[in-house]
Amino acid sequence: IMRKVAIYGKGGIGKSTTTQNTVAALTEMGRKVMVVGCDPKADSTRLLLGGLAQRSVLDTLRTEGEDVELEDVRAPGFRDSMCVESGGPEPGVGCAGRGIITSINLLERLGAYDADLDYVFYDVLGDVVCGGFAMPIREGKAEEIYIVASGEMMAMYAANNICKGIKKFAMTGTVRLGGIICNSRNVDNERELIEHFAEELGTRMIHLVPRDNDVQRAEIKKKTVIDWDPTCHQADEYRTLAHAIEENDKFVIPKPMTQETLEGLLLEHGLLDAA
Ligand code: ADP
Ligand code: SF4
Ligand code: MG
Repeated sequence: IMRKVAIYGKGGIGKSTTTQNTVAALTEMGRKVMVVGCDPKADSTRLLLGGLAQRSVLDTLRTEGEDVELEDVRAPGFRDSMCVESGGPEPGVGCAGRGIITSINLLERLGAYDADLDYVFYDVLGDVVCGGFAMPIREGKAEEIYIVASGEMMAMYAANNICKGIKKFAMTGTVRLGGIICNSRNVDNERELIEHFAEELGTRMIHLVPRDNDVQRAEIKKKTVIDWDPTCHQADEYRTLAHAIEENDKFVIPKPMTQETLEGLLLEHGLLDAA
């Protein structure tokens, strides 16, 4: 059975990096994975593709019309991972969220969701929790959500907002929160803070990924760390995260916090000064 995973989180928090590195670890475990980038930036698969430019689904649709073949929009990446970039609407025209659904529908029609796929990962832009970016969870395209966050206030604020969106659709559908991935920014007491934050949301911190410059070193070579140096420490961190996702059986309807509770949490962990 194919697991339909979506990665949400504030812009720049590390969704695309974490997704691709985790996918690289899953492919090492022999899993068959497809990644669908759902960010108009179309940079969700470049580390798996070794920097090869991937034509986005929406661009291809615009230039070729409906006469699109699967090979035009899906490229093989690291260890036979399969890479798709949804792309965006013409700037200033159309809804980016709608564009994601157009892409997913086309992928379905082209048979991209092979029966032997173990996972599909949607890497979704998440600064705005508008109706558009909730599409993949609203339409049942993604069922298992991980939120990337750090101990920085705005990352937690965004994560809490995303939980409000998940809760809304979880009540009537199959979407569930699988956990918080802490992508560390080396904030003081970050592990305790995010563990506590996750607990308040009714979920758990599934892994803390350390901040490590090997991520940048690999990125300059247009690779995941596992591809760049499978023996480095950070490679093992992504393997641990991949295993935690593979073995995860705690899927919940999140309990979003009030702004007061969130601020209270930051106070308690020494990150906000009492006014
Ligand atoms: P998003 O997809 O959420 O917008 P990215 O995955 O593009 O964010 O990450 C932004 C930058 O942060 C990347 O260029 C990457 O180099 C850096 N980064 C992400 N995770 C880590 C990490 N664990 N250690 C060091 N740098 C990281
Ligand atoms: Fe953009 Fe969201 Fe509005 Fe769609 S719903 S146009 S993605 S802000
Ligand atoms: Mg990204």
